[in-house]
Amino acid sequence: MVQHSRSLNPSVTEIPADKILGFQASIQSVPDMVYLTLGEPGFDAPNVVKEATVQGIRANHSHYGNSQGNPELRQAVIDYLADRYRLTTYKDPNQVVITAGVSEAMYAIFKTVLSSGDGILVPDPAYGSYFSSIALADGKALPIDTSLSGFKLTPEAIHKAVKAASVPVKAVLFNYPNNPTGVTYSYEELSALAQAFEEEQLWVISDEIYSELTYGKAHFSIGQLIPDQTLVVNGLSKSHAMTGYRVGFILAPQVVADQLKKVHASLIYSIPTFVYDGALAALKMQKEELNDMIKSYEARRNMAVDALKEAGFHVLSPDGAFYLFAKLPVDIKEDGWTFAEKLAKEGHVGVIPGEAFSQFEGAKDYIRISYAGDQEQLKEGLERISDYIEKRRAN
Ligand code: PLP
Repeated sequence: MVQHSRSLNPSVTEIPADKILGFQASIQSVPDMVYLTLGEPGFDAPNVVKEATVQGIRANHSHYGNSQGNPELRQAVIDYLADRYRLTTYKDPNQVVITAGVSEAMYAIFKTVLSSGDGILVPDPAYGSYFSSIALADGKALPIDTSLSGFKLTPEAIHKAVKAASVPVKAVLFNYPNNPTGVTYSYEELSALAQAFEEEQLWVISDEIYSELTYGKAHFSIGQLIPDQTLVVNGLSKSHAMTGYRVGFILAPQVVADQLKKVHASLIYSIPTFVYDGALAALKMQKEELNDMIKSYEARRNMAVDALKEAGFHVLSPDGAFYLFAKLPVDIKEDGWTFAEKLAKEGHVGVIPGEAFSQFEGAKDYIRISYAGDQEQLKEGLERISDYIEKRRAN
């Protein structure tokens, strides 16, 4: 008789829970907190988006739709990216898949591209969920430490990592503007990276979810340079303050898109069909309509950088996204995890330990602060951080 055992899939049970979520839960019970933790925009979805979504519901867009996203929406994605970033290399709506946020896009891509045990380079620090998602797809994340190169990936680091890998390296997962550092890349830097990606024959998975949120620097998509090997991933969560709508999109070489569609269909079939209407309205908004929001993020960034520097943190003023990766003041002799826990309990401010984004020792000295949320809360949070540091210095 075959022994029945109630075991669960070790690929799932052995992945650590998302470190960010775990930390958030642990500080949830502290009263009177200011949270500078999540990448949740402090804005509501634009009115035109709300109206279009409600219209979609009224028009009974409540049935199964086109799994890949309706053709009009996929064409709108192509037009939007061409208009905003002059990304013109993905021309056919058949190359586009509409996903439930970038989160689903990533898992579907890893399932499509990676065979069991395949390596994928991940410039580190990185968005923590990548690591769980890669593990769930049976891939092997190969982190590259970027802390000594201004948190930027370099061609040399790519070649070195491919050479050193003990498994076949299939892909690189690239995110800019970056979570958690806010770092982004110039055209020249991207060209040099594109050449290295080409030489190493890697699939390039380019998570550009923060592309709309750049301050003074225009975003350029690497998909324009090496479209035959690049999967551009983007979405509406951050750019249009639509995190709860769950809209992401992938633009891929046709051979990849054909396979991706199958994975996406078997995962969720499609996102809600009335959300297609809201997403279409968002994509048709003019860049100028988002200007106030972007200006406001820039002002928040400046305020946060100044306040943290004043308090003794080492922090760069990044060109994009809405996070600061800040190194603890030298006289605070503890790691970011301990500091973040104490800051929450004694100073009533929530920030995320740098470790949550990194597999390397160096990140232990860092915390990540999100300046995405409400401006008044940010101001209050920064004041509390300064007071807390001052109090510690006085003791
Ligand atoms: N990619 C990065 C780099 C992120 O920072 C986030 C959210 O914080 C996501 C993806 C998730 O995006 P979505 O809401 O589209 O699933």
